[in-house]
Amino acid sequence: MNGNNDSGHCASLSETYTLKTTITNHNGLHARPAAFISDTASKYKSRIYILTEDGRRASAASVSELLSLALKHGETVSIKAKGEDAREAAAKISEIIDADMGEKEKTAEENVQTDADGQPSEYGESIDGGQDAVSGQSMVFKGVSVYPRPVIGKAALLLHKKISYSEASFLTAGEEKDRLRSALRAVKEHFYKKAEAIYEKDRGNSGTADIYYAYSAMASDPVLIEHSMMAIDRGLSAHAAFAEAVGKIQSAMVRNGSSIFSRRASDYEALLRNVLDNLPSENGNAEEQIPVRRSFDPGTVIITDEALPGDIDLDDSNIAGIAMAFGSPESHFAVMAREAGIPLIVSAGERLLEIQEGSIAALNVSKGEILINPSSKKRIAAKIKKYNAAQDSEGMHRTKTAFTKDGIKITVSANAGSRSEAVRAASAGAEGIGLLRTEFLFLNSENPLDEDLQAAIHSEIASAQEGSSVAVRLIDSGNDKILKFMRLPDEKNPALGTRGIRAFDFNEEIFRAQIRAILRVIPEGRTRILLPMVSNIEEFKNFKGIISSEAEKMGIGKAHIGVMIEVPSAALMAGQFARYADFLSIGTNDLAQYSLAVDRNSSLYAGMADAFDPSVLRLIKIAIDGAAGHKREICVCGALASQPAAIPLLIGLGARKLSVALPEIPAVKRIIRICGIKECEYLASKALGMENAAETRAIAENYIKNAESAKIRDIVPENDSGKSRIIMSIAEILKKILHFFSVSDVKEKADNKGNV
Ligand code: PEP
Ligand code: MG
Repeated sequence: MNGNNDSGHCASLSETYTLKTTITNHNGLHARPAAFISDTASKYKSRIYILTEDGRRASAASVSELLSLALKHGETVSIKAKGEDAREAAAKISEIIDADMGEKEKTAEENVQTDADGQPSEYGESIDGGQDAVSGQSMVFKGVSVYPRPVIGKAALLLHKKISYSEASFLTAGEEKDRLRSALRAVKEHFYKKAEAIYEKDRGNSGTADIYYAYSAMASDPVLIEHSMMAIDRGLSAHAAFAEAVGKIQSAMVRNGSSIFSRRASDYEALLRNVLDNLPSENGNAEEQIPVRRSFDPGTVIITDEALPGDIDLDDSNIAGIAMAFGSPESHFAVMAREAGIPLIVSAGERLLEIQEGSIAALNVSKGEILINPSSKKRIAAKIKKYNAAQDSEGMHRTKTAFTKDGIKITVSANAGSRSEAVRAASAGAEGIGLLRTEFLFLNSENPLDEDLQAAIHSEIASAQEGSSVAVRLIDSGNDKILKFMRLPDEKNPALGTRGIRAFDFNEEIFRAQIRAILRVIPEGRTRILLPMVSNIEEFKNFKGIISSEAEKMGIGKAHIGVMIEVPSAALMAGQFARYADFLSIGTNDLAQYSLAVDRNSSLYAGMADAFDPSVLRLIKIAIDGAAGHKREICVCGALASQPAAIPLLIGLGARKLSVALPEIPAVKRIIRICGIKECEYLASKALGMENAAETRAIAENYIKNAESAKIRDIVPENDSGKSRIIMSIAEILKKILHFFSVSDVKEKADNKGNV
């Protein structure tokens, strides 16, 4: 960010301070971050405005004004504050924006997991788009899946009822204003209480809470209220005035923005519905839709036009699934359903609403199909039961430690690229963070985060790990990871040039501040420092010296320093690195790129930098053995460790620690639990002798297939018992001892022979 004091250096009561910054959130500025900003802005005495480069302006205290700017990712804005605390206010708002506004929203692709292959239903029903949805008839509707879990139940229709109200007021303006104010207060409190309850219940997974906080902020938006009050002064009823004010904001958003913002206009639709629901009804000439509140029988599949947040109580355990005629997979309701684990299909078409209440409805979410009165009900129910049993055991066991079927513990930690991912890691089943890519925390920032803010972020992340550690990797910029504030020389071949810690010489203070911030983390000793792109021992030793000197200045005894093994030289020298490094971490992405000499971002050679290649597997083996020789901890953190097919190979190569992408944790743990150490070792030894990645992948996949068919599911609960693990571990140790004696025996015999 760039700042300037418009009124010179002297702070005065009406100081004006302006800062420039860039919108870093992938989806631009939408309801949740806007609420966060407006909430923060309202705590300052200064008036704060956000100005766009094309001259538009919004009050930072108004969610609606902020949203109507429709700010997109990458857009530069100025934050202008005027008042006695202008400087602090502008800095705080800029800090929120720079820190990705506290979140990274999923892209549409991440949200939707649909198998849109256009195949007929796997349950054998034909897709007819719902031409004749009459009672008892089998029908299939096709929509977009949001939360992929199949379900079957009884359909309950939930259609929004129309509320009619008069445009003109029959009361005094004062009475209308009071009515509206109390409805807004009720809605504000309602959403705030809901948000607090959810936040308390599930701190690490508070997307739904954020949405409700945003709605609560929207209900007290000064601009929205002012528009409404002015409309009441013009003679409109409270209903009509609020509907008009909301309409203005919605059309501004749709006019200005991308499709994402058009969809965000639905946030105001939800607010409108809730406010109207809280205004005493009257007869009149205008109409709005409001949700019908009703209770459901157990196992209900709700069929609705379009549900918005607050319309359906997602905590209601009687709701088995939801299908919507309209709606978007990116909507806030979709986010909430996903978090609540409720199967949801959206956008199935208006004819869905013609089905009869009480019909049997099956959601085949892997294909986005809604089957009404399917002929093969029993078969579907049996399939779903089987699916759920498998999923339940996988999901239920995500937070349990993963042991191979013969009792060897494999630690699964998380790779994180944002504060929210890192904070969610423990509840997603991770034992700590094996790799925190800090360069992603700074992406799109004009300046690095200041030391205090970094220390606060790392402390928050560290204390969310339930005692496990966090490996904070120092900024790994260069080549494809460009950070605006990093000074890097102009090079012909940056992938082989200034990357990772090589950038220190050009950016000393940035690295030192980052190191200090990590060393300051509370709780103490929970974080470790990981050095990226190290290719020789000298580099590592030098950098270790830099960290130690910072630690010494701060009076800290020992910093834990690890090395990324992501270039072939480092893999080959892992044994020597292990003399100096406290831990090692194998980055299979770069290791594949540098050993196969293929740019990992190249579309021309896409797929060639494949870490399944036997050459990469050989380097992994050398690195693991090198670390083991010095009893150093080594983890595999590249994308290879997040691929279920690679798990038997990595275990067979000796990996006992993996760091994986959050969504892959349950699947990775499931594979670990079906693996046998000896089998994996055999598999890996065969893979090392193979000729290409396709072959190594194929034997691993084949092994998993066979292991899965050998009743994997029941392995997890029973064999996971502490007793069987201890027995298996003792057996492992005994085997090692016997192996040692037989080897020394052979060696001794050979030596004796030599002596004769
Ligand atoms: C790797 O190279 O495998 C790695 C983990 O680092 P990054 O993908 O961030 O380069
Ligand atoms: Mg790397």
